[in-house]
Amino acid sequence: MDFDLVIRGGEVVDPGSGLLGRMDVGIRGGVIAAVDRSLPTEGIGATLDATGKVVTPGLFDLHTHVYWGATYWGIEPDPLAARTGVTTWLDAGTAGGYSFPGFRRNVIEASEARVFALLNVSAIGLIAPTYELTNLDYCDLGLARQIVDANRDVILGIKARIDANTTRGVGLEPLRLARKLADQVDLPMMVHIGKGPPSLDGIFTQLRAGDILTHCCTGHDNRILEPDGRLRDFVRRAWDEGLVLDVGHGTGSFSYEVAEQMLAAGMAPDIISTDAHQLSIQGPMFDLPTTLSKFLNLGMALPEVIERATARPARAVRRPDLATLRPGAPADVAVFALEEGTYTFRDVFMTARTAKVRLVNRATIRAGKPMAQRPEQSLAPWAELPEHQRVK
Ligand SMILES: [Zn+2]
Repeated sequence: MDFDLVIRGGEVVDPGSGLLGRMDVGIRGGVIAAVDRSLPTEGIGATLDATGKVVTPGLFDLHTHVYWGATYWGIEPDPLAARTGVTTWLDAGTAGGYSFPGFRRNVIEASEARVFALLNVSAIGLIAPTYELTNLDYCDLGLARQIVDANRDVILGIKARIDANTTRGVGLEPLRLARKLADQVDLPMMVHIGKGPPSLDGIFTQLRAGDILTHCCTGHDNRILEPDGRLRDFVRRAWDEGLVLDVGHGTGSFSYEVAEQMLAAGMAPDIISTDAHQLSIQGPMFDLPTTLSKFLNLGMALPEVIERATARPARAVRRPDLATLRPGAPADVAVFALEEGTYTFRDVFMTARTAKVRLVNRATIRAGKPMAQRPEQSLAPWAELPEHQRVK
């Protein structure tokens, strides 16, 4: 048989590999075997008709929390993956040194979706909502190095959340320790910002080219823009040198005001990710297709948006072999409808925007096989949205 599965007649959008236009995607043995204007109709196991649909690499969500059952924030990746087209999940520091072995066995190895991790510089990780860095004894770099070295196949970077609560009383010291750890293990560092202290200029003294700043559209006091909408000077310098700006929408980190100012100044974020967790999946974030739709309706073109959830996140964590439809790559593919209508999207302050299009996932293929829909875990008893985000 030539192909186990052919996704036929869709509009392929894979700007990272330069594959754009109406094409068939042929899959054999769990890998992309061919992408062409017209693949043969004989010798095919199954066909998925994608006429009128958008076919992309399986999405790569660079900021998620998928350590269900052992942490405050974690959700299960597979149910959400199957209905959103996200085949690769980067867990952004939910596990630290003490909890990583359980994350590896119970989530990474047990999930159908592909799961990678950033190791939290705090050994306790995100078992609780916050305060993980306030006791510096938990920033045990020796332990963290051991865990990284034993798990280099799945740990792709280091995570530090730097805001008023996570660091209460210890200032920049945990970030300096995360910097040291990232240098020692030679991996990128993702730093979360929001409410200071520490101040943003202090945080930027520890960032280097190739690091990832997440929550770049935050509307809190550590925002990256001056009041007039220009990038703050030290942000501009770091970005020019290769710092990666990531959205990480979440429950507290996507402001339409900031996103609109950035786009008006021609500064689209490098990567669009969700910060999917127990709270944010209840809305107004919901999922990655919804988050991508917000940027589409802000005027970004579909290929620009898709690249920011496929090739660019893959490159940011040094895995350019993933989230691509290049022949030879793992056959992780997503099929979307681009629906036209009148929709309302909201940022974390519940500021609304009316939208004309939205991306809706129609099929998610992981390693050549369509993912079946499956029931989602009920929300944790503590997973209550902030008062202002509760829709009555
Ligand atoms: Zn997060």
